[in-house]
Amino acid sequence: MISSLVQYHPRSFREFCYVYPVVSRRSGGLSLGVNLSLSGQCTFSCVYCQVIAEGGQKQIDVNSDFIDFDDLKSELCQLIGMINNGSLFQDSWFSLLPVEKRGLKDIAFSGDGEPTLSSAFPEAVRCVAAVRRQLCNEAVKIVLITNGTMLHTKHVQNAIESMLENNGEIWAKLDAGTPEYFQTIARSSIKYEKILDNLTTLTKRFPAVIQSCFISIQGQPPDNSEIKQYAQRLMSLQTNNILRIQIYTTARNTPEQWVSPLNNEQLDSIAETVRNLTGLQVDTFYSN
Ligand code: SF4
Repeated sequence: MISSLVQYHPRSFREFCYVYPVVSRRSGGLSLGVNLSLSGQCTFSCVYCQVIAEGGQKQIDVNSDFIDFDDLKSELCQLIGMINNGSLFQDSWFSLLPVEKRGLKDIAFSGDGEPTLSSAFPEAVRCVAAVRRQLCNEAVKIVLITNGTMLHTKHVQNAIESMLENNGEIWAKLDAGTPEYFQTIARSSIKYEKILDNLTTLTKRFPAVIQSCFISIQGQPPDNSEIKQYAQRLMSLQTNNILRIQIYTTARNTPEQWVSPLNNEQLDSIAETVRNLTGLQVDTFYSN
């Protein structure tokens, strides 16, 4: 039941523009996504990206998305209200969610692209934090799901600081142990070394979760040497600030037919290797 709810993952809800409810594997339940990337702007072009698969990513100037904060706030308040009064679960799809899973786990900056590319990100953090303080219980997190591209910038670091004062958590992507594999997966003009530098900067200053999506390419999982180098890269970060590693695989549409999810045994085996080599907490999230 939960796995089919997870696979159904539209990034829109009714007539809303910015905020959408999802059942999230990595959140462990109900999450409200906040989309600051209406045109899908991203610095990566991941081979497993659901947004690209659905035609949602367009190449435009990074700051061209206008955010109407009155609308964002109103949508967030409405959806939290619908969760709190139960009306969301009269919706045909969310009615399938078991009663014990109906509490809000987090409000997550995710959406159709890389949230920190939006110049509105710091203001959006302030807006979400104010609504959370007003309407949510203390346990509800504010999550940033990021590919790491902008973590070196002052304005993003300040916004992260403000998130952390409001039960924030940073989930930063690292899908590879080598520059070559990184380019195979992310197909980006950003260099792998730049992403590693930014993750180092992040973990020197803030606690963070590292999230890593591993997949099969033409039926082949990443080889052991790639995973060992990935583990070494993790150890090169400020490990006492790494809260945990989330290892997962794709559960949704991918833009490339030669990409497929790893099976549970393959994911478990990667997680075991990483655990043994790093001593870090590693959680796995299966595709089914
Ligand atoms: S970083 Fe995220 S949004 Fe960007 S291409 Fe990769 S999966 Fe898609």
